[in-house]
Amino acid sequence: MPKESSNARNWKPSTLAIHGRGREPHAYYAVSTPIVHTSNYYFDTAGEVEEFMRAKGQGKVLREHEYARYGNPTQQECERKLAAIEGAERAVLYSSGMAAVLLVIMTYMKPDGHIIFTGDCYRQTRDFAMNFLGKFNVPFSIVDPAADAIAAAIQPNTNIIFTESPTNPYLRVLDIPAIVKVAKERGIMTVIDATLATPYNIKPIAMGVDVVIHSATKYLGGHNDLMAGVALGSATLMNDLYKMQRMIGATPGPLTCFLLERGLKTFGMRMEHHNNAGLAVARMLEAHPKIEKVWYPGLESHPDYRIAVEQMLGNGSVISFLVRGGNAETRKFIDALELFLITPSLGGSESLITQMWAMSFFDYPEEYRKNIGMVDNLVRLALGLEDVDDLIADLRQALEKI
Ligand SMILES: *Cc1c(COP(=O)(O)O)cnc(C)c1O
Repeated sequence: MPKESSNARNWKPSTLAIHGRGREPHAYYAVSTPIVHTSNYYFDTAGEVEEFMRAKGQGKVLREHEYARYGNPTQQECERKLAAIEGAERAVLYSSGMAAVLLVIMTYMKPDGHIIFTGDCYRQTRDFAMNFLGKFNVPFSIVDPAADAIAAAIQPNTNIIFTESPTNPYLRVLDIPAIVKVAKERGIMTVIDATLATPYNIKPIAMGVDVVIHSATKYLGGHNDLMAGVALGSATLMNDLYKMQRMIGATPGPLTCFLLERGLKTFGMRMEHHNNAGLAVARMLEAHPKIEKVWYPGLESHPDYRIAVEQMLGNGSVISFLVRGGNAETRKFIDALELFLITPSLGGSESLITQMWAMSFFDYPEEYRKNIGMVDNLVRLALGLEDVDDLIADLRQALEKI
């Protein structure tokens, strides 16, 4: 059993990322969590099997490990830390952020229900709704990412409000307490994909949200080197999710969990850096003559600036903007950068850049693409952990080349 350490001490995220919810005794007294590469866990005697199964039938866990699809020790240590950082009773880790998104929806969707999604959401979430929910006869709506639009879309059978905040690429920030209020009045479950906010910048559970999802591939892992996802919430809801997760086997492997736990140890420091760098670069871009418009919730010009100030500690390091000019000028700028890698994703050590229409929405018909705001000169930056002065100098020299 892990040595309990109380959250009543009000530990902050960096402390929780290292000591959150105590620790298992480790083999050889190792400080770091061991990577246990095994697909199954043996019993000493045949009688033990019966004892184990009988206890399990009564809801008691005699020992945690049984079969690797059901989880591994490194995963459980990660889950305890993530739950502690989020302020949730329990976390369930998945092999990707999308596994978390899909399995949360699939666990709670029903044919006589109705799901509300917020637009400007992660592309694959939107695609799942548009291309697959119909096969299960699950009705849904995709609405503007704003509390009043969500309230207006509620139908008598709505059972899930699936939101994302901040959204991507326009970084809309939702008024979470307003959404929770209408949802609770109607007994609707609220889910938020808070990948871009992270548990450092926002605490949706404390605001009454039922399930929080993060792609741990991004800021939580933090080094552009792993893929994982997590859902967090009450022990009861997480138990529902865990049943589905262990059945499907969307379980992250032990090495992934080791890397994630290692990344978490610097989570708080990294987020401070991301928040400071994001604001500094957003301000520089907004003042630059070669830039037409910038979206960053920490800028007063952003439509959701007020909500961001009220709800978020910082705004991370994803910034979207329009380069003055068209496709050719935008490409010239991107190709002149020395420190930014042209690739999707965000929240890692390396700074990344994407021209959204080509990287993420190329296969959509042009008209639909433009309708959802994926114009030729829209660029998204995801700043890494480099020195911000160097990033600013690089962006400036590349903008000069246009
Ligand atoms: C990346 C991302 C996902 C998907 O996560 P994966 O780990 O890539 O599966 C979902 N939602 C948001 C907001 C993301 O940024």
